[in-house]
Amino acid sequence: MTETVAPYKEIVDIIKLQGGQSFKYCYQCGICDAVCPWNKVSSFSMRKLARQAVFGLTAIDEEEIWRCTTCGTCPSRCPRGVDQIKAGVSLRRIATEYGVVPDSITTISGHLMSEGNSLGGERGKRAAWAEGLSVNTFAEGMEILYYPGCYLSYDPRMKKVAVATAKILQKAGVGFGILGPKEVCCGESIRKTGDEATFKHLARENIKTFIDHGVKRILVSSPHCFHTFANEYPEFGMHFEVIHITQFMHELIGSGRLELKGSYAKRITYHDPCYLGRHNKIFDQPREVLGQVNGLTLNEMEDYRENSLCCGGGGGRIWMETPKEERFSNIRLKQALDVDAEVLATSCPYCITNFTDSALSLGNGRSIEIKDVTEIIQEVI
Ligand code: SF4
Ligand code: SF4
Repeated sequence: MTETVAPYKEIVDIIKLQGGQSFKYCYQCGICDAVCPWNKVSSFSMRKLARQAVFGLTAIDEEEIWRCTTCGTCPSRCPRGVDQIKAGVSLRRIATEYGVVPDSITTISGHLMSEGNSLGGERGKRAAWAEGLSVNTFAEGMEILYYPGCYLSYDPRMKKVAVATAKILQKAGVGFGILGPKEVCCGESIRKTGDEATFKHLARENIKTFIDHGVKRILVSSPHCFHTFANEYPEFGMHFEVIHITQFMHELIGSGRLELKGSYAKRITYHDPCYLGRHNKIFDQPREVLGQVNGLTLNEMEDYRENSLCCGGGGGRIWMETPKEERFSNIRLKQALDVDAEVLATSCPYCITNFTDSALSLGNGRSIEIKDVTEIIQEVI
């Protein structure tokens, strides 16, 4: 039997209190369902979630409230200005309060609270990726703090991206440092699962560390770190300058500090991560950086820029199991192969993780490399 939190009016008030006020503007046009990537692989209705919320009939024990990847497509199209992401998260906050959350999310919250990262790595080993690279600890007065985030610090595949980034910064003569074990997860994705308490805990810890170390400018590799530092940490009064690595490489190349001497003679296509593109409108710099590389051919996929197809990893979905046949990343890989790409380049650890998984299951002798933009640039400096 389906469990509702409380009958009717009371639950309507609870949803509003948790940030779901905008559901009331919904007039059930169904545009959100028409544009939602879930409906390319199975069926999911944000329109239905909105209707249930308005009538106080939300079922917090059903999988539906955990589906949205917060890709940002439907909020950009809704004619009534419903903020489906904020409103959808309000339902997850209620579920979190009642302890009705997927087991995987409970495990991740535990890792975040005990070790400060979502992968369960040892807190003290957060800077292990940088061993032997002559990377300094950040000190006040340095040009920029490099904040690699959890995946680039602990995930074996993603550590290569942190290494590539450090090498690029060194080549360009950037005065940078890292905070290693003093940095914790940015908290963006756990917030989208409705676990506001863990998010606040992490945000406060990072903000205190940044202030204590005199940080002014922060360089990030993940669009999720970028999003929360730029758009969510200001809720706590933090106003540091945040720059994504694709923007910073653009700046370094433009000012002549970074020279691209080599060539990369491959056919590339670029995937816009939701939190870099749709959410933060950073579409041009990654393309312009790739466009500076000798020999590289860049072709666009069917869905690109504002219409980019979500990889499936946002909104905490990176930590939830998605059946193989329901992975958006499989469709994205097909789109990349359709434009004859040898390399699918992107600039987000969740996208790389999901695409790499999908690439392993490609059949018919087809193959494609999955690369971060920094890994391509590292090869030509
Ligand atoms: S697009 Fe907006 S108004 Fe239309 S069904 Fe979805 S939430 Fe409601
Ligand atoms: S934000 Fe994206 S995943 Fe979530 S309901 Fe809207 S279109 Fe679907």
